[in-house]
Amino acid sequence: MELLLGVDIGGTNVKAGLVSGDGTVVASSMRGWSGGEPDEAVSLAARLAGELTGAHPEAAPTRCGTGCAGLVDGHRGTVLRSPNLPTWHDVELKAMLSAALGLRTLVDNDANAAAYAEYVLGAARGARSAVVITLGTGVGGGIVIDGRVYRGAHGFAGEIGHAVIDIDGAACACGGSGCLEGLVNARSLVARANEAIEEGARTSLADVARERTLTAKDVGDAAGRGDAVAGKVVAETGRVLGAGLANLIQVLDPDVIVVGGGVAAVGEPLLAPAREEMAARACGRGPNLPRVTFAELGELAGMVGAALLARDELDAA
Ligand SMILES: [Zn+2]
Repeated sequence: MELLLGVDIGGTNVKAGLVSGDGTVVASSMRGWSGGEPDEAVSLAARLAGELTGAHPEAAPTRCGTGCAGLVDGHRGTVLRSPNLPTWHDVELKAMLSAALGLRTLVDNDANAAAYAEYVLGAARGARSAVVITLGTGVGGGIVIDGRVYRGAHGFAGEIGHAVIDIDGAACACGGSGCLEGLVNARSLVARANEAIEEGARTSLADVARERTLTAKDVGDAAGRGDAVAGKVVAETGRVLGAGLANLIQVLDPDVIVVGGGVAAVGEPLLAPAREEMAARACGRGPNLPRVTFAELGELAGMVGAALLARDELDAA
């Protein structure tokens, strides 16, 4: 069976894996890095690929798919800019990787790659149209319609995190303001909790916050233990997310919306209010709403999805 090389370049690590034609990860490897220059990421990816193929001499990948954080023109394989990789501007990543690896290479946004993995193998399998949202430090999104990632006219579709929810809202890393990302990412969840603590709310999170900086996981865990203040914070975040999902259904009317990423680990206390808010803003659609569910593939989704995109969009040369 054909083998593919999957690569995922983020702000804190680079992952590479040998992925079989059916999406099974044969072997994978990850190296932390501090989001330096493009050259460094490319040599790191090439080194990981070399180690993997060295350890699996029977495995010679024929194509490479790479997901990269940031604003990526998936048609050309160029990274225009990336909040997580601040020195990157108009990086011809596809050409660089292809030369370093000696493989036909596809480059796309990491969220598009993760969305494709969920569509083919994960929570959206069997659907015709799906939107996958990744809630973490940033908020990424990918749209898959009739088996194809929808990239838009210029390659930038699916940037759901930068859809505007609050026209007078706070500045966003993208240069805009009031974006969904700043209202539902990990930092906003923690900020809401800190606000409640400052206002004197009685919550177990106040004890944690005295010891160290709160994390989104702390807030989610406290909500799960029945801490009412944490529950309210999570529900408010879910409600804002639901407004974002309502915008999606107005524009795309997908079969499934998949929510993944670190913040999604909070679970149903986040998604239940999101579904409710989405339904309330559905303008008479009745029960004709998308299924809203959790991602299934975890941390390797971007790497696997990138490999699958290479399988399906690059000719086997
Ligand atoms: Zn933004």
